[in-house]
Amino acid sequence: MRNVITFVEHKAGKTRKVTFELATEARRLADALGGKAQAVVLGEGASALAEQLKGYPLDLIGVSDDPEVDRFLLDPAIDYLEAVAKGAGPSVVLVPNTLQGRDVAGRLAARLGAGLTSDVTDIKVEGGRVGCVSPKLGGSTITTCAFKDAEYGVVTVRPNSFTAQAGGGGAEVVSLEKPGGKAYLMVVESDVEESSGELGLEEAPVVISGGRGLGGPEPFSTLLGPLAQALGGTVGASRAAADAGWVPYSLQIGQTGKTVSPPLYIAVGISGAIQHKVGMRSAGTIVAVNKDGAAPIADFADLLVVGDAFQIIPELTKLIREAQAVHA
Ligand SMILES: Cc1cc2nc3c(=O)[nH]c(=O)nc-3n(C[C@H](O)[C@H](O)[C@H](O)COP(=O)(O)OP(=O)(O)OC[C@H]3O[C@@H](n4cnc5c(N)ncnc54)[C@H](O)[C@@H]3O)c2cc1C
Repeated sequence: MRNVITFVEHKAGKTRKVTFELATEARRLADALGGKAQAVVLGEGASALAEQLKGYPLDLIGVSDDPEVDRFLLDPAIDYLEAVAKGAGPSVVLVPNTLQGRDVAGRLAARLGAGLTSDVTDIKVEGGRVGCVSPKLGGSTITTCAFKDAEYGVVTVRPNSFTAQAGGGGAEVVSLEKPGGKAYLMVVESDVEESSGELGLEEAPVVISGGRGLGGPEPFSTLLGPLAQALGGTVGASRAAADAGWVPYSLQIGQTGKTVSPPLYIAVGISGAIQHKVGMRSAGTIVAVNKDGAAPIADFADLLVVGDAFQIIPELTKLIREAQAVHA
């Protein structure tokens, strides 16, 4: 394996942060393998998105605005990706670990006779071998899987596992030729919007998470909700809160939940267990509100506010709203 190809998931040219994370990681991997970093953007809005991707350190961006990609279910996209991969030769293909990405990855791996590793949170290259790190069995085991003697490897990468870094652009944009002799049967009749919960948490600029210290479900809406609203953020949770049934598991952050990387993360009544930390440690600034000044979160929070969340959070929300009113 030498080259690295990243599949760009988007909707009419609008993409998620993970696209830029994968573009950045593709460069690092390609350099380690001595190959090229490419991206493949398909469907309506692809050309415009390719222009945006030129700000990232890729060598090549393959583009097709082919309307069939959106009209038919996945098959045209897989045909394009297969053709690009076969044209590039031995490669690692990076796909976001999303609902659509997982579908793309499985089909592509079957076409290429490739190994497939899913929900990967880190990728290492040692002696020319690609090793993919991923939590398994509900996060109780962390595995590293290498592609044994395979020409191609397909990897689904958990969003927020890598940091996107613009720069070093100048990628060549090439128009992809439409794979010939194909007929598609599965027409997309309508589109259902993904619930904002899943998207919101992983993309939000501010995440305010609550833990067991909140004592029940109500404070998630009455205490954290107003603060999230004031800061333009969203609410997350620790596993203890999700296990207690106070919030849905879709809000859980950590080893067996979501990985988030917002510029600001506020942990309220969360002790900071390692399994929680791995899901938020790459946040820009970490603020913790905890009654216990010696809670483990004190070791990695940028700011620890020691005190009762039920006094601090309403006061903080009030001050933020007042400051916003002054600057409005
Ligand atoms: C295989 C495995 C996978 C796991 N995956 C995850 C995961 O994905 N995500 C995750 O979060 N956990 C995960 N866990 C669980 C993890 O080990 C911890 O048990 C969990 O994170 C603890 O949640 P917590 O911090 O909310 O609760 P606690 O550890 O009980 O902490 C509660 C905190 O609230 C503080 N507090 C109490 N009252 C107040 C108050 N009024 N104001 C302010 N502070 C207060 C306390 O001082 C305490 O620090 C996993 C565990 C295992 C074994």
